[in-house]
Amino acid sequence: MVGVVWNKADLHVHSSYSDGSHDIHEILTHVVTNTPLKVIAITDHDSIAGALEAQRLAPHYQIEVVVGEEVSTQRGHLLALFINKLIPAGLSIPETVKRIHAQGGLAVLAHPLDRLCNSPMRHWPRPTWEDWLSFGLDGLEALNSSQLDPRASSRARAYAHTLGLALTGGSDAHHKGVIGMGHTLYPGTTTADLRHSLEQKTSLAVGGRWNARGYLHWLASSLFLHAPQPPLRPAPWLYPG
Ligand SMILES: [Zn+2]
Ligand SMILES: [Zn+2]
Repeated sequence: MVGVVWNKADLHVHSSYSDGSHDIHEILTHVVTNTPLKVIAITDHDSIAGALEAQRLAPHYQIEVVVGEEVSTQRGHLLALFINKLIPAGLSIPETVKRIHAQGGLAVLAHPLDRLCNSPMRHWPRPTWEDWLSFGLDGLEALNSSQLDPRASSRARAYAHTLGLALTGGSDAHHKGVIGMGHTLYPGTTTADLRHSLEQKTSLAVGGRWNARGYLHWLASSLFLHAPQPPLRPAPWLYPG
């Protein structure tokens, strides 16, 4: 792909619609001001309200947003990308994937080989090779910046290559300061380019781990913000009608 410009997308960002620290306005402002990202996916836990708001506001910020959701399945977290309706929590991975595909979305298992995060590796019995093949996934999150398990990313990359799945990278940001620390590199600029890259398995998962501030904010929100707070409506001029 000589001459093609590669860009960065963070495909795993939480907002105050679940357990993130910031509302959509703060996230979009931060991304366009402080990061080189062309695309972000808002992937709140079992909610797409923030992602839909971000997609609606994105043109005002000259950024593109993928509507996503981090779905709590029976065997771990699954990123639903390019969806437009809520995917219910509590289903099996294959059933969840089926519902994502029925909407035209892509299914990417979040932090898939991490034994500390909510992944299939935390559930018993551990998935067999036949299970992995039967999940029907489109990709694996091969870089997640929140992971403390030192082998999780390399194992996820190896599984993705063996299973023929796309690689994604995401910060799993709960605080704006770590958005972009993990990201997906793809040829092109737009969400359409990103999607094409995921479908063609040309994307790369790149980045590092959260800094201390990322872990501190995540800890604080886990301890004190169990009930998601309804976000204030910022910047009324952005809400025509
Ligand atoms: Zn997760
Ligand atoms: Zn997450």
